[in-house]
Amino acid sequence: MSVQQEAGVGGEALEVWIDQDLCTGDGICAQYAPEVFELDIDGLAYVKGADEELLQEPGAATPVPLPLLTDVVDSARECPGECIHVRRILDRAEVYGPDAE
Ligand code: SF4
Repeated sequence: MSVQQEAGVGGEALEVWIDQDLCTGDGICAQYAPEVFELDIDGLAYVKGADEELLQEPGAATPVPLPLLTDVVDSARECPGECIHVRRILDRAEVYGPDAE
């Protein structure tokens, strides 16, 4: 994908991050959305940055491409660790995940 279209609720861009402290390493997210999530050698899942590198800073977030929104949301819903957080970039309000209202 050359130009990444970002997903949004009401047109607002979203990003996703993982709380590795709670990750069980089962790999469900990487099965659902391998373009966004990947397990590292430490057995934990990380989000990928623009160059497909894994973002390993705690709390690091990556934009959610619109075509992958369903897969990312399904990952957050199915995540056994309840540690995938999808939020609006604008105000960092969680819209999918354990802290969503
Ligand atoms: S689905 Fe959740 S618990 Fe499982 S590997 Fe992904 S982030 Fe970790």
